[in-house]
Amino acid sequence: MSILLGAIADDFTGATDLANTLVNEGMRTVQLIGVPESDVDTGDAEAVIIALKSRTEPVADAVKASLAALDWLKSKGVKQVFSKYCSTFDSTDEGNIGPVTEALMDALKTDFTIACPAFPANGRTLFNGYLFVGDQLLSESGMKDHPLTPMIDSNLVRVLQRQVAKPVGLVSFTEVEAGPDAISDGFRRLRSEGKAHAIVDAVSEQNLRHIGQASRDLPLITGGSGVALGLPDMFRDQGLMGSTADIEIAAPTGRQAIIAGSCSEATRGQIAFAKGRVPSYMIDPLALADGKDLVANALTWAASQDPDVPILIYSSADPEVVRQVQEKLGREKAGAMVENALGLIAVGLVANGFRRLVVAGGETSGAVVSALRISALRIGPQIDPGVPWTETLGATKLALALKSGNFGAEDFFIKSFDLLP
Ligand code: ADP
Repeated sequence: MSILLGAIADDFTGATDLANTLVNEGMRTVQLIGVPESDVDTGDAEAVIIALKSRTEPVADAVKASLAALDWLKSKGVKQVFSKYCSTFDSTDEGNIGPVTEALMDALKTDFTIACPAFPANGRTLFNGYLFVGDQLLSESGMKDHPLTPMIDSNLVRVLQRQVAKPVGLVSFTEVEAGPDAISDGFRRLRSEGKAHAIVDAVSEQNLRHIGQASRDLPLITGGSGVALGLPDMFRDQGLMGSTADIEIAAPTGRQAIIAGSCSEATRGQIAFAKGRVPSYMIDPLALADGKDLVANALTWAASQDPDVPILIYSSADPEVVRQVQEKLGREKAGAMVENALGLIAVGLVANGFRRLVVAGGETSGAVVSALRISALRIGPQIDPGVPWTETLGATKLALALKSGNFGAEDFFIKSFDLLP
């Protein structure tokens, strides 16, 4: 079966966010970590998302990586292409959203696409072309001070126009609110005016679903994960997908571990909650720096624990402790050392029969996934908003949950394992 939706995401957690949205709408979804070098069997996936790290790369690199991802997706015969970026339209006047979009349009031989970062459930709404974060204009929100992509103009028609060669227009709230036919009319109107890009307003989930319906004939759609909400139903309306079904994953049986390298508040709360309930082992960065073989020690400790109970291995510490460690070792060195140790521990645990892993921390997840040489994940049911269980595809079969540091409720670590079959 060919893939209906081929998506290119400009960062890893953005890809997971999109995957989570599609799975919640009953679409079977696989997330690939980078463009696969060899062939990957995506099984019965209806959507495949390639996660890149192209948000803040130099424009030429972002374009190159996105075109390589597109080539791979085209080789799989995908029906429609989705370019996913952040719901706050994170970009500079140089790009990367605009140049990537126009490169994809050229490669897909299309002269028209839409741009809709709106995600009302997360407070991102787009009205008359102006993007709001909660009740603030984008340019008055925290995004104005972003270290890499400060957003100082809230008018996305202007923002996108500065990044692209072809004209940008607006399908405004009045048209969007009138439903899918009016939105399609809006697309036709803009095309007749010679516009190549349509910023599309949306303030509600229903708006997004209607935009999805109106976009069925567009080879390329660009936006945040919100606008993907309407795509599974749009495919269903064409008879291309079955009815909504809960997505299950095949979770391999084996021992269970939590590996936490995030020092975020939510993760520290989750560790405090889990510590009274499961055996735990702390990795001290200063001991690592002293040359102690904490990887071997942790693995020996893990082997001696009750195999029926999950274990917790963590480096997470309070801000004051982290500050002291960083003062002694340097921020980057401390981070890299801990990430390296946690990656090696993950490899050792898997070698010793662990098959179900929860990992806390964005960078930590990256380190673990690359140490385990995992290149593809089939996305399963949600544990908490933004964090699904996944099943690894390829040689090493694992159930894996990759949690961004600040995500998840206090009981996240404990309840996650209860959700597996
Ligand atoms: P989050 O998603 O919360 O940002 P990350 O894993 O992305 O979590 O980042 C946490 C960073 O802090 C990682 O680089 C990790 O190696 C580092 N780190 C973890 N524990 C400590 C510690 N005790 N002291 C200093 N740095 C640490």
